[in-house]
Amino acid sequence: MSDYRLLINGKLVAGAKSMDVINPATEEVVASCSRASEAQLNEAVAAAKSAFPAWSATPIADRKKVLNAIADAIEANAPDLARLLTQEQGKPIGDATGEVYGTAAFFRYFTMLDLPVKVIEDSEGKRVEAHRRPLGVIGAIVPWNFPLILMAFKLPPALLAGNTVVLKPAPTTPLTSLKLGELIADIVPAGVVNIIADANDLGAALTAHPDVRKISFTGSTATGAKVMAGAAGLLKRITLELGGNDAGIVLDDVNPKEAAPKLFQSAFQNSGQVCIAMKRLYVHESIYDEMCDELAAIANNTIVGDGLKQGTQLGPLQNKMQFDKVKELIEDSKKHGTVIAGGDVAEEKGYFIRPTIVRDITDGARLVDEEQFGPVLPVIKYSDADDAVARANASPYGLGGSIWSSDPARAYALAEKLDSGTVWINKHADLAPNIPFGGARMSGLGTELGEEGLAEFTQLKIVNMAK
Ligand code: NAD
Repeated sequence: MSDYRLLINGKLVAGAKSMDVINPATEEVVASCSRASEAQLNEAVAAAKSAFPAWSATPIADRKKVLNAIADAIEANAPDLARLLTQEQGKPIGDATGEVYGTAAFFRYFTMLDLPVKVIEDSEGKRVEAHRRPLGVIGAIVPWNFPLILMAFKLPPALLAGNTVVLKPAPTTPLTSLKLGELIADIVPAGVVNIIADANDLGAALTAHPDVRKISFTGSTATGAKVMAGAAGLLKRITLELGGNDAGIVLDDVNPKEAAPKLFQSAFQNSGQVCIAMKRLYVHESIYDEMCDELAAIANNTIVGDGLKQGTQLGPLQNKMQFDKVKELIEDSKKHGTVIAGGDVAEEKGYFIRPTIVRDITDGARLVDEEQFGPVLPVIKYSDADDAVARANASPYGLGGSIWSSDPARAYALAEKLDSGTVWINKHADLAPNIPFGGARMSGLGTELGEEGLAEFTQLKIVNMAK
């Protein structure tokens, strides 16, 4: 049995306080875990700071061994981690298992990268080199929708580059991160990785801490703006992966029956609690009715329930606040459109909302303009593809977007006009550790993953020598 302690300076320590973590499928307590005080946060930062000189001087090949050992530990404990992830987060056990193995794969991916010195000029008069130096202590802040994989966007590149880390999971999903701390306590040198849990009260202190050199943050746009303000005083480096309102645009040459299952998965995976979920769907008027009917049929046949139950396809919303927010958006959407699947939330234990499809709705309704982050999709009719792209672009968010067509050239031409960090063609939300990821406009700042994501955990240092 785990007692979910904090990892500070290589030791598992009890929190100054404790807190209960709720299973969103049952509303019962999964476990009580440690909750750090601000003094313990400061201890974690101090430990990371004193571990930095030795870790940054450790040869990169040895740092890679540590990353691989973390991946081994995750894989060796995958069934337990997946079960715990389902219990605290709500997602079906198959998806949780995928997230756990994906997390290990992200650690392994970064072991394939290096930070070689680049020669910029080597001429008669001079030699100029570009070096990538670690920054120091990194604060890594993670939300509740993918507690493990989003941590793996940050920890492996931060560590590979020679930084040390203080990781803070979201208050409603701390257990898998604390469990990870238990698994790696003897693998990682003391102080190199520290893991603390809070009740939504330590993010600002971590951000403002004078010994933290960079904040790598994933969460909402509103909190991201606070992180930016908190980091400004000391000009800290920040990477912000924030909210989205991804549009999918379906052209008139698409077969609704064939596309509907893929569109549904793009919008409803993880019960819609995905930053790059498709959150508004624009469908050409010539196939609109058929597409709405296909999507409604899939929604009505979807099995919603406890993620630990065999056969469950969608789990509950992760927490009460999000559950209430999505319910409110669905109620509001009834004034602006027609609900053709779902729409009524049963009075039962657990934060369950059946997949909901709303048609005859358009821009200007809250469900279209805001980020719902839940299992409800507005389907919007359009007649002109350029107009649909313009509406997709007229959002403060710019995380992802997709074009669906049987004509690749036509889709490509429209994809070029979509103003977002990622554009997909005939798919949506395809992420991999080697593909750089980041948002345009208010969806974020900077890049994670790939070589570009690794570079963000470094300071570029130019060495310019006279010859
Ligand atoms: P949130 O912003 O409420 O919380 C995210 C994290 O920030 C939590 O760990 C929280 O404790 C911490 N935090 C709270 N106040 C803070 C402060 N003042 N300073 C620093 N940290 C603070 O977000 P959430 O509700 O947990 O997550 C949902 C949001 O995250 C959605 O908007 C979603 O789109 C976004 N998201 C974005 C991505 C991406 O990669 N772009 C990925 C997943 C989720």
